[in-house]
This record gives sequence, C-alpha cells and structure tokens, in this order.
Amino acid sequence: MKTLNLDRIIRPNIRSMKPYSSARSEFVAGASVMLDANENSLADAACYNRYPDPLQQKLKQRIGEIKGVAEECIFIGNGSDEAIDLLLRATCRPGKDAVLICPPTYGMYEVAARIQDAIIQEVPLLSGFQLDVPSILEAITVDTKLLFLCSPNNPTGNLLDKEDVAQLLAAFDGLLILDEAYIDFAEDNSWLPLLSSFPNLVILQTFSKAWGMAGVRLGLAFGAPEIISILNKIKAPYNISEPAQHFALQLLSNENLVENRIAELIESRDELARKLQSLRIVEVVFPSDANFLLVQFRDADRVFQKLIEKGIVVRNRSSMLLCENCLRITIGTRNENESLFQTLQEIQL
Ligand SMILES: *Cc1c(COP(=O)(O)O)cnc(C)c1O
Repeated sequence: MKTLNLDRIIRPNIRSMKPYSSARSEFVAGASVMLDANENSLADAACYNRYPDPLQQKLKQRIGEIKGVAEECIFIGNGSDEAIDLLLRATCRPGKDAVLICPPTYGMYEVAARIQDAIIQEVPLLSGFQLDVPSILEAITVDTKLLFLCSPNNPTGNLLDKEDVAQLLAAFDGLLILDEAYIDFAEDNSWLPLLSSFPNLVILQTFSKAWGMAGVRLGLAFGAPEIISILNKIKAPYNISEPAQHFALQLLSNENLVENRIAELIESRDELARKLQSLRIVEVVFPSDANFLLVQFRDADRVFQKLIEKGIVVRNRSSMLLCENCLRITIGTRNENESLFQTLQEIQL
C-alpha cells in the first residue's frame, strides 16, 4: 500500500504550527461548574449559552456508525465548502502550488483555489463527461497538491468511471479529493469502504442534498487520520454551532425517512427525464445519477427566460464547457416537477 508523504502534500508552516487551544478543547463531559470560557452562566441551555464541542464528538460517533468509518477519519465542516477551503489552505503555497480540476464541474474548487492564489490546472472532461486520464497524468507535476474529482459530477450528473479513479489514485501522490455530494442518488456505491486502502484519498460528502439539510450547513470530509487532524488543526475552533450539531443528531436518528425520500426523488427524476424527452424544444436529457437533470435545449437562454417569467428558477449552465444550451434542473416535489413540465409544454407551443 502507498504511504502518505505529508512533506509532499502539506505546507511546511501548517505542519509546524500549533493550533489555537480553545477553552473547551479539553471538553470535560459532566463537569458541573464551567468557568473557563467566559460564557454567560446566567442564561440557560435553551439559549445555547455554552460553546459547542469543537470536535463534534457525538455527531462524529453517529456518522461513524452510519458510514462505517472511524471517528478519527471524519472531519465536519460548515458545509463541504469549508472542507474544500481548508484543503486548499493546508496544501497550497500561494503563487506556487497547484490544484487540478476537470471542467465542467463544481465551481467552488476554482473559487477556493483563487482565494488561496493557487495555480489552477484544467484538464477538461471528454465529450462523454468522463476523465481524460492520460492528459491528467501528463499535467500533474510535483507542485500539483490536489486533484478534484466529482462523482456524480455537477452539473453533468454522471458517475466517473471507477477504473479511471482507481488509476489516478494509484499514480498521483498528492491528495485526490473525490466529491460525492450526490452519491446517495447514484447506482454505484461510495468509495468510503475503500478509504483505508488509499491514504491519499479524501472523500467529501454533505448533509445538503440527500439528507435535506442544506440550511444547517454540514459537510463531511473522510480521509486518513493524519489529514483529518491537519484540517482540525486549522479550522475555526467552534466551526459547527451547537444548534447544528443538535439538529443533525436528531435527524440522523431517522435513516428510513431519508431512504424513502431518496427513492422518491429518483423515481421523480426518471419520470421527468422521460417526459422531457418528448418535448420538441429538448435536444438531449443527459443520464443522471444525481437529484438533478442536465438538459440540452434548442435555445436554452430563451427557455430559461420563459421559465423565469413564470416564476420557475433553474440553473443556466450554457456558458460552461461542453454544456452549450444546457439548463440544470433540480428535481423538486411532484407538484414542482409538474409545474415545470407544464410550463415547458406551453413554451413549446
Ligand atoms: C451541493 C454540492 C456540495 C455541497 O456543498 P455544501 O457546502 O456541503 O452545501 C458539494 N459538492 C458539490 C459538487 C455540490 O454540488
């Protein structure tokens, strides 16, 4: 098995720094007099008067049970976006180090890279939205710290070929970040069970999509304990609020509810895909393993405008590489899907 070369991956200043030691980092469960953190003891717990557990141990324990992953391999962020940002900051020296992305894909990889002033290497997907492995291998240098892959990919909706991912995992000695935000809607399984075989693999998941908690802001990064502890070291001490931790724990007690909703969304997605294919204004409905459809229209800008006029907002992806005349349509409630379809039928006339 490959070993993790932290010198190759993590910035020297980040490796050597000592983290801020928060008053609550040695969380004393069951202590009755807590006068260490300048909180307001006169307020009561219903007001959330105490600082939250900085390492979210209860929540990690529960997530660990559900996902079959050890707690020291789990990082919880204020959305996956926090994990993406911290990965950039931990690895890329501004103006020197690089990340490799494969457009069209999720925009936050590039945004986080620009904020860090990392160099952005782009190797576009092939026309079937799969990875161009030879070109990626050719583009990678010793300065390439992170390789961002997204499967199922946003906005194209497809899973990446497992063989391609495996080949890149074997060849690349930086961190391969595999964003599985939509994996619960997909036919393939997550890479999570293989995490311990690949120390340079970091898997991102989120509570924003299948789990239906986008407003709570909880994202997950799974990786080798050495990488997770670096993320913990550089995050803001209390990055996940107590209400968010509390709420998520409650929701995680009802897995069945989530399973049922996923099944319903997949059914609605496939039904909407079939119906859209019957419309003359539609050129292609791309196959989807996510909770959205990428649809190519004859004139996407016109359709987008007409939908807006009727109060229906979808995402116009026409300007993205390989997505000419494409709109990305999120699967909603049955009523929402129906009103979208009816409006598209009217535009057709
Ligand atoms: C929606 C989405 C996320 C989730 O981001 P959060 O910050 O966790 O809400 C991550 N990656 C991709 C590709 C997404 O589409």
